[in-house]
Amino acid sequence: MSKRTVRYVYSEYLIREADKNPAVKGRATLTHQLITSYGLINLMEILTPINCKVSELTNFHSSDYVEQFKRFERSHNTQPSKQIRNEALSSTQVEEEEEEEVCEESIEEEYGLGYDCPAWSCILSYACIIAGATITACEALIKCKPTEPEIIINWCGGWHHAHRDKAGGHCYINDIVLGILVLRQHFSRILYIDLDVHHGDGVQEAFETTKHVFTFSLHKYECGYYPGTGNVSDCGLAGGRGYTANFPYKDGIDGFSFYKYFKRIVTRIGECYNPDACVIQCGADAIVSDPLGGTNITPHALICCVFMILKWNLPTLILGGGGYNFPNTSRFWTQLTAAILNKKLCNDIPATNDNFLKYGPGYSLNINSDKFKKNWNTEEYLDRCAKTIEDNLIKYEVCAI
Ligand code: MN
Repeated sequence: MSKRTVRYVYSEYLIREADKNPAVKGRATLTHQLITSYGLINLMEILTPINCKVSELTNFHSSDYVEQFKRFERSHNTQPSKQIRNEALSSTQVEEEEEEEVCEESIEEEYGLGYDCPAWSCILSYACIIAGATITACEALIKCKPTEPEIIINWCGGWHHAHRDKAGGHCYINDIVLGILVLRQHFSRILYIDLDVHHGDGVQEAFETTKHVFTFSLHKYECGYYPGTGNVSDCGLAGGRGYTANFPYKDGIDGFSFYKYFKRIVTRIGECYNPDACVIQCGADAIVSDPLGGTNITPHALICCVFMILKWNLPTLILGGGGYNFPNTSRFWTQLTAAILNKKLCNDIPATNDNFLKYGPGYSLNINSDKFKKNWNTEEYLDRCAKTIEDNLIKYEVCAI
């Protein structure tokens, strides 16, 4: 690959805030430390993220939804703790209060801010820096010279399940949609690729009626598996019909087949659509041994997928996403960062790493496939999925609009 500028979105504050997401507590630090301990940080230009304004969040999210974030911030700052309050109230007043509490819970439920997305008091600050980091990256991409398309990496972004007015699947704010809306000011054909093991539902929903953003998600699709959308037949709506593609696979897919079908489809999409910028969500839950995943894919296969796109030489944003085996997530994103920088890494985790013990018992960078995992995908099934997507590209005359 020719020499390209690689920028890494980073600030201490971003890492500190990203660490607060209850589903991935401490993961941002773990990843950043591994990248740093391998010396990769010195090979990239640091892009300092800027907090986005609360009003910018409503470029995608509803103001009612954003208002909920403010409410958590307010309630924390102005109300004494429930216990102290209850001690000061008579028993009837406590009952009334409890009723009010239930009411509040139903509001939380309405906006998805409970269950897998519990809110916390400083959630608004979290939202503004998580969205701000991806927006900062996209603003940098639209400013780069067409002759020097940059690669920007933001491992704290990639929250593809957040909807316009609902949190879901550990995602509170859809930084991807907000970032792509910035890219749209300058680019007219953006290809969004979602490698996370879950369907990229929030991003697809945001752009399924437009031809200006093509979304392609590959994900595990089985009865009862989150979020339950992303059938192979879903290919966009109204004016955007044909400009959405979904590749659903079953449990146990290996890296070899994943890469084979990824290459086949993405090559076709590239030929028809001829994108002028790309956004790749690299959710590490698509890697073998993820507790919420279920694939048998190694980092090598996903790195090959990313390189397929990078060789197009387009402005490209690389994002994180899911990844619930934290040491493996950190291993994968470090390996991918190194590959982009064309740097070979020693397989031994540097002993200087503050979280060295988290990489035991092997203390190595590699992640091996699981020899005993059953692959429920047949070639016939995967081929049928690929054929359906290819037929849709023809049927809806997908082209470089
Ligand atoms: Mn995921």
